[in-house]
Amino acid sequence: MGDTTTPTMPEAPSIQSPTTPTSPAAGYSKHIVLTTYPGQSGVDPVPLVWGAPDAKSRGPVIVTRGAGMLKRRNAMGAHGGSYSIYNALAIASGELDANFRPDFRNSEPTFNFPWQPAWADKTKIVSMDPFGHDVVNQFREELDAGWDIRPTMAITRANMKLAEIGEAVKNGELDVDGSIVVDSSGEVRVTKVAVEPVWYLPGVAERFGVDEGTLRRTLFEHTGGSYPELITRPDLKVFLPPIGGLTVYIFGPPERVSDENVKLALRIHDECNGSDVFQSDICTCRPYLAFGIREAIREAQNGGSGVVIYFRKEGRALGEVIKYLVYNARKRGGDTADKYFTRTENIAGVRDMRFQALMPDILHWLGIKKVDRMLSMSNMKHDAIVQSGIKILERVPIPEELIPSDSRVEIDAKINAGYFTTGRQYTMEELAAVKGRGWEKWEDVTVSSLFF
Ligand SMILES: [Zn+2]
Repeated sequence: MGDTTTPTMPEAPSIQSPTTPTSPAAGYSKHIVLTTYPGQSGVDPVPLVWGAPDAKSRGPVIVTRGAGMLKRRNAMGAHGGSYSIYNALAIASGELDANFRPDFRNSEPTFNFPWQPAWADKTKIVSMDPFGHDVVNQFREELDAGWDIRPTMAITRANMKLAEIGEAVKNGELDVDGSIVVDSSGEVRVTKVAVEPVWYLPGVAERFGVDEGTLRRTLFEHTGGSYPELITRPDLKVFLPPIGGLTVYIFGPPERVSDENVKLALRIHDECNGSDVFQSDICTCRPYLAFGIREAIREAQNGGSGVVIYFRKEGRALGEVIKYLVYNARKRGGDTADKYFTRTENIAGVRDMRFQALMPDILHWLGIKKVDRMLSMSNMKHDAIVQSGIKILERVPIPEELIPSDSRVEIDAKINAGYFTTGRQYTMEELAAVKGRGWEKWEDVTVSSLFF
């Protein structure tokens, strides 16, 4: 790729704008380019070879439509995942210049993760850009020439303080080592990696066992027709979807994560804001997360490595509105473990939308070849990891004493449905006897009771 000059090219054929007035500050021309086509005059995407061995031969991911890049884009969607909409709002309101170029000085990673064979394997990594952390370094000339290329990953370090870790230090369950647990208050040093989704559509389709055309059509139809190039540009294979990403928390020296000769403890955690942050007691999410962090720290202190990966998939990727509707249906309909999944299926149509098929990508990016202690009971996570070629040597369930009483319904239903346990799996009859807390002491209004 020798062309490093700012591309200038004629405007794409376009459709005349309707009469919707736009603020002059937005700087839009009179016509709106609704979509582009392969072979259209001037359309010449910058080469992007997914699975190439290094960033330069792979090529930068370019999604911008601005500054003459519309016809040289090689990816669909927008940067920032779900925050792409806020970016658009900032431009619409005049707070942000549409042609703003970031100044990336000093933003480079705090740790250089070593290159892994998986970075060049288009079957192992399909949902993130394996070179997304190194954009500034790899595409400096293009950036200097004014190309809008942005990192989709960032690597930093921090200190964190969690009540449960402070307790564990106080109770003598965790030692202060001065380097991972830095003091007696339980302050912990951590390396963090944030990742935005970047989908290689042929690879994503293959993971879900559908053809690429069906995946593209479905993504187009069910985002309100938001990304017409999914249909008109089959030559573009990369899509930045408007969804949340993930964060990796690494305890202990990050170079140990890919070292097969030391032990690795891993928790894969899917977001549950109500429990993770606000500590609602209806599920086991925060207790299991805190347990996972504690065990990850412990493994790192023993000379191994501890990794916790936090995925933005709130409420089994159904979102909080669906989640609360299900809570209500459970509490009003008799909250027993045997009906736990039915309540979700009634409202969402499925019991779970997290689809762990893409989850192992980050493990391959990190260079993880085996997991010594998997701090999760989920059979879906386990199977996805193992099927992707990573061995799991031990599975560690949440300790009984950490299960809040009102969350027995959830955990027992999950165990019955195949979640890993070292204890007993309950029968459906027994599950009918596992009941959540009712709403007896709360005022409750059900609309149906007014009519019947
Ligand atoms: Zn939860």
